[in-house]
Amino acid sequence: MLMTTNHAYRISFLSTTRVRPCEQLPESLSGFEPVKFKEVLDGTLSADFLVDIIGQIIKISHLEHVNVNGKETEKISLQLRNSDDDKLPVVLWGKFACDVNEAMQVRDEHCTILVLRFGKIKEWKEERSVSNAYNVSELGLNLPMIEVLKFTDSLPKDDLPLAIVESKYAAIANGVSDKDDFFTHTPRKTIAQMKETKQVEKCILMCTIAGIDSDMGWFYLSCKVCSKKVLTVPAVNDDDGNDDDDLKHTYYCVKCEAYNPVTVPRYKLHLVVLDNTSNTKLMVFDNLAVQLVNKPCLQIAGPSDKVEFEETNVLPPVLNTIIGKTCQ
Ligand SMILES: [Zn+2]
Repeated sequence: MLMTTNHAYRISFLSTTRVRPCEQLPESLSGFEPVKFKEVLDGTLSADFLVDIIGQIIKISHLEHVNVNGKETEKISLQLRNSDDDKLPVVLWGKFACDVNEAMQVRDEHCTILVLRFGKIKEWKEERSVSNAYNVSELGLNLPMIEVLKFTDSLPKDDLPLAIVESKYAAIANGVSDKDDFFTHTPRKTIAQMKETKQVEKCILMCTIAGIDSDMGWFYLSCKVCSKKVLTVPAVNDDDGNDDDDLKHTYYCVKCEAYNPVTVPRYKLHLVVLDNTSNTKLMVFDNLAVQLVNKPCLQIAGPSDKVEFEETNVLPPVLNTIIGKTCQ
């Protein structure tokens, strides 16, 4: 599993957690922490962590359509530079490649600054580059961010023109898909070995599902449009002093910036798993849980307007059918 942060702790939201939008978020709280190109290139940074990068696009290839395991995918190769004039290869895939290609064709600025959040460090034949991570990364060109303005000011004042180049990283196109990459390059571990590991890293476990911990519920409500978890926000009070209003809530989708989006329930299972060395808990989200249960969450939880949130920690019997399954 790729990690988005190296923090030792994380905050979990329970179904009873109440949040409300913050009107004035300090600008310094963007969470954007670009890494040094040098540390990507020399291996200082682990490929297990997703990274933020900022750089000026100085080279760009044509948009290519490459075949990755039978599926046609768009690909574009870039070279970025930073204020120290270090160069970082970046390869973008799919929609990210199309978006950048389109933006670069119609751009009128001389200097294009790319911001990639949660990019994936890739290693190919000892050469390191950064790619977008499927479903996670965010990308923007010449974003109106303080970091972008500061970065632009720090660049060498040489008016370097943009170079259109042949795709240099053709080898990667013939390479492996994320899935094959995962199964061939990820070490297998027992649960005991995994528990001894002191640092965050990817591994493959072969284990048997011994039970499902339902204390934290077994599903969450997601936005039908973008699939993200919706937030429960307090409904606006009428100021009539009625205490019941405190219990009223509405839903909000952060990604769509919409109140009361159409919602669908999705799995979030906390599995208790074991092998012959130890036991542990794994959190399994919808796409994987569906493969285990063989039924969509909606079918079990029912339409979201009828979902009783007070009872989300009562496990429906059908979920017990996955107990005893062995998987990796
Ligand atoms: Zn949404």
